Amino acid sequence: MDYIPAKTIVTRSKSSTWFGIDYNMNIYRGCCHGCIYCDSRSECYGIEAFDRVRAKENALEIIRNDLRRKVRPGVVGTGAMSDPYNPFERELQLTRHALELLNAYGFGVAIATKSSLVTRDIDLLREIKSHSPVLVKVTVTAADDDLSALVEPGAPRSSERLEAVAKLSDAGIFTGLLLMPVLPFLEDNTDNILAIVHKAKEAGARFLYPAFGMTLRDRQKEWYFQKLDTLLSGQNLRQQYARAFGNSYQCVSPHAKTLWKEFSAACEQQGLLFRMQDIIRAYKVGYGDSQLTFF
Ligand code: SF4
Repeated sequence: MDYIPAKTIVTRSKSSTWFGIDYNMNIYRGCCHGCIYCDSRSECYGIEAFDRVRAKENALEIIRNDLRRKVRPGVVGTGAMSDPYNPFERELQLTRHALELLNAYGFGVAIATKSSLVTRDIDLLREIKSHSPVLVKVTVTAADDDLSALVEPGAPRSSERLEAVAKLSDAGIFTGLLLMPVLPFLEDNTDNILAIVHKAKEAGARFLYPAFGMTLRDRQKEWYFQKLDTLLSGQNLRQQYARAFGNSYQCVSPHAKTLWKEFSAACEQQGLLFRMQDIIRAYKVGYGDSQLTFF
């Protein structure tokens, strides 16, 4: 493992409208899950050799100092630019020790991951939950394992992630699915979306939060198209994207409206939350008004 210097790791979030998160924490830089659509490859983030995971030097000491200095506790989000449960975490346990610090200093946590390794820390998540809100978001974009292997080659398959959702839910952790991105012409079909809703319900998820489309820009866009050319040659996907989106950064699925209708109806029928304010309210309920930053 290579280490990179850092001055601070737990930083104030610009807005708490995203899952009610008050602070952001990235212990690692880069990610080896290899998702072909990953937005974090974009030039604006300046992460060279993105697939090589590096850890922040003295991360736990820095996190402890960051937490000590915060005037008020809140929910610390992790997993925005790098999966906190990459394969190196199994041995390094930096994310686990950071959770211990969040627990000791009275902070809540909102984790985003594609890895089943998160279930290792159920004991700590339960401890944190005894005093602060805890939320786990597991990303699933493809109901079919073969498709998930194609578009997210370094991450556990979708079925393994759903098993993790089931374990977390069984343990009483408020867990749901991030259904994003939904890749145009690959994943934006009714069968895929409704199958994911069905599997989420079966696994005991409390919510799904979707984005029917993706973003594409500069080197991330080129990476994505190269992967499509190699992995799905013959499907002319590059041409389909050019026709549908030109040079747009936001690439909303041409079927977004229909999918939203079908998706929201299925969620309502199954008793799954899918609106941001409802999800925030549900996982923060019972922790006092001071934690309800969204409102
Ligand atoms: S898990 Fe997230 S950060 Fe890692 S490659 Fe996939 S999309 Fe990017």
